[in-house]
Amino acid sequence: MASTEQGIVGRGNSEGARLFREWFDGLGAAAEADRRAAYVFVMGSLAELLRCFDFPIVFPEINSLQTAVRHVAHEYLDEAEDYGYSPDICGYVKADVATQLRGGQLPMGRIPKPGIAVLTNACNTYVKWAEIWGRMYGMPTFVLDVPGSRAADLSPSNGQGAYANDLKYVLAQLRELIELCEQTSGVRFDIDRLRESLDHANTMSSGWARVLELNRSTPAVFSALTDGTIFMGVSNTLRGSPEGATYFTQLVEELEYKQLHGIGTLTEEKYRLIFVGVPCYPMFRRFAELFSEWGGSFVNSTYLWFASGGSNIGYQYDLARPLESLAEGLMLSVRSAMDSMFFQTEPLLRMIKEFDVDGVVYHPIKSCRTVSTGLADSRRDLMQRADIASLFIESDMMDRRVVSEAQMKNRIDAFFEGLATRKKQQALVAG
Ligand code: SF4
Repeated sequence: MASTEQGIVGRGNSEGARLFREWFDGLGAAAEADRRAAYVFVMGSLAELLRCFDFPIVFPEINSLQTAVRHVAHEYLDEAEDYGYSPDICGYVKADVATQLRGGQLPMGRIPKPGIAVLTNACNTYVKWAEIWGRMYGMPTFVLDVPGSRAADLSPSNGQGAYANDLKYVLAQLRELIELCEQTSGVRFDIDRLRESLDHANTMSSGWARVLELNRSTPAVFSALTDGTIFMGVSNTLRGSPEGATYFTQLVEELEYKQLHGIGTLTEEKYRLIFVGVPCYPMFRRFAELFSEWGGSFVNSTYLWFASGGSNIGYQYDLARPLESLAEGLMLSVRSAMDSMFFQTEPLLRMIKEFDVDGVVYHPIKSCRTVSTGLADSRRDLMQRADIASLFIESDMMDRRVVSEAQMKNRIDAFFEGLATRKKQQALVAG
């Protein structure tokens, strides 16, 4: 490997892991000092605003999925189920309940208790989840109601009517949230701090949009399933920070370098795939290998859209009107995150063309109904509108009791055999 490559290629993954560890160490220090945190969710975290009040920021969804990646989720799930939570509710909630029962202890360290919870209506589980902390700690909860897509004329281009009203509605809620944050943190709101944080968020959002776009190249420069999840982790946890901005600037540099030099994420890319749903965290690496062993490369996923809170749209805040722009960015990105869960056919059709895709892998999971409900219908819709291979495999993002590697492997192998036949037929027709 040339020396430039040694410095650049793989930097996004190693730096992402380092930043993630540092972020977690910071949470551990906050827990030791008994500081109270802002508990937030990936779809509409508002981290760029909450930073202005010096809250340590905890993402319970990310903490929970880490228990699965580290193969201890079942201990947390069992504990929450023994406590009374049903096996069929969101696994992230249950892992978090057990975390709270353990005084915030996670395999990566300890998290501080919540001083405030801030959430949007992007997933209805968020609302019930925050009620649990309310009962445990008696802290305030702020639910931001973000109006979703209801009709085609809500686009910003018309800027009037429903769109303008929706914007006013979100802005009014943000003003209320700022008051609550001031009361809870004892820190006065400083619009210049917000400007600074939005500026960093702008660099991160445009970087994230560019990263996703770069995977149009053949071979794909990163795996949307594995590498993409690391990049997105930084995008969420460091949103609005200078470290996050530097990370994305360097990540774009790395992936542009890979594109320029034809360096793919796989040695031999045979099939280009899109992933729809939430990853199988109990066997995160192995799941990806079941595809990469066949030369299957995940070039994009709906997960990288909705779980980045819609940052994929690359919205740029206008620093001359920070609050109004924050309201608009929040509304558009959360709306886009919701659309990528509920109305994904159109963007998938576009992506199949733009990313030169051979197949779509649907992965509905038992314990996230928000993302999984309707995926079978969604797939049927896509099949009717595009001549594309697809695979539908069910498992879970947390619960290893419903994850069977052997069953998955059979289905995945059959999918690739079908893809190989399809490619041969296409070559015959073309040639
Ligand atoms: S989106 Fe799914 S995984 Fe996330 S909180 Fe809602 S139900 Fe749980």
